[in-house]
Amino acid sequence: MIDFNEEIAAMTETINRSIVLARRPHGAPTAADFRLQQSAVPAPQEGQVLLRTLYLSLDPYMRGRMSDAPSYAAPVALGAPMVGATVCRVEASRHPGFAVGELVLAFSGWQDYAVADGAGLQKLAGLAQPSSALGVLGMPGFTAYMGLLDIGQPKPGETVVVAAASGAVGSVVGQVAKIKGCRVVGIAGGAEKCRYVVEELGFDACIDHRSADFAQQLAAACDEGIDVYFENVGGAVFDAVLPLLNARARVPVCGMIADYNATELPPGPDRLRLLTRTVLTKRIKMQGFIIFDDYGDRNGEFFAQMSAWVAEGKIKFREDIVDGLQNAPQAFIGLLEGKNFGKLVIRVGDA
Ligand code: NDP
Repeated sequence: MIDFNEEIAAMTETINRSIVLARRPHGAPTAADFRLQQSAVPAPQEGQVLLRTLYLSLDPYMRGRMSDAPSYAAPVALGAPMVGATVCRVEASRHPGFAVGELVLAFSGWQDYAVADGAGLQKLAGLAQPSSALGVLGMPGFTAYMGLLDIGQPKPGETVVVAAASGAVGSVVGQVAKIKGCRVVGIAGGAEKCRYVVEELGFDACIDHRSADFAQQLAAACDEGIDVYFENVGGAVFDAVLPLLNARARVPVCGMIADYNATELPPGPDRLRLLTRTVLTKRIKMQGFIIFDDYGDRNGEFFAQMSAWVAEGKIKFREDIVDGLQNAPQAFIGLLEGKNFGKLVIRVGDA
């Protein structure tokens, strides 16, 4: 992990460390794209709270925010702290609705402290594992739940395939599909992740996308074709999936992480017409979605159901916790290379 500045690690809590966007990456991000900056801990004004970050969520969408290419959300400005969801403790309060010591879900970014006026803060009282508000019970779990159930419409006995299967979204997609009575095939990078997906999460099979004969293994595991392909990665995985899609298959398009660092279109023949012909002849439904834009009003329904499944042991989850805000850039770079194993979270402060 990068050690930006050993002195900074020893700073007292009068200093707020922030990791800011130093420059926009071309291709894969590097450590030089980030800068660790220090400032005084901000003082809350009347109606505000001071938040101390305990956990910071690292998510693939952050690669998009580092770029100023047109997208569904505004980019992070150069020199501004990287954005991100956090679990924070209220350290000081001048807001009647929040007491010192309360835990809240916030969007305060890659920093130790932030002030907030209460808007958008969600209290986390009663959560057995507060960091789960960033994963299985938070945005990634919500994404899996809505994308699979609302767009994927899985039916008992159907075959559901999901890649990045040991990760925050994919692990929940597969387990919810099992609850719905489907046959579930995961795709993951490496034998250890595949073993976990089958033995711990209960998928029926998991194929290593790095295997030389990946496409053949996937076809063998999906001998009745694919009814729902939950698209998390794109790239070579989608190339192997496309010929296996059954008539009337559903494809929730959630993410394309294989392409997030791409600087140009892949080489080789343009396969767009192959895709559209397949969509037409097999009458496939492909639909993209952005979780909070499209389903923000259904978060309560998701949270009630997922909390129950987690409490009953029907949904398991794994967190990959990295200690220290200063290690966030390297952990994020690793996320885009498949180095995380489970929901990637930075432990910033002592809970
Ligand atoms: P994960 O926890 O699954 O971590 C990312 C994983 O992606 C890596 O561990 C790696 O797993 C896999 N990966 C990276 N590069 C490749 C590649 N070239 N080919 C195949 N797999 C690759 O991340 P999340 O669960 O948080 O996110 C999964 C997807 O969901 C992302 O595309 C993300 O952008 C998307 N997403 C979309 C949302 C929406 O609203 N539409 C909301 C939240 C997430 P492995 O080692 O197994 O290959």
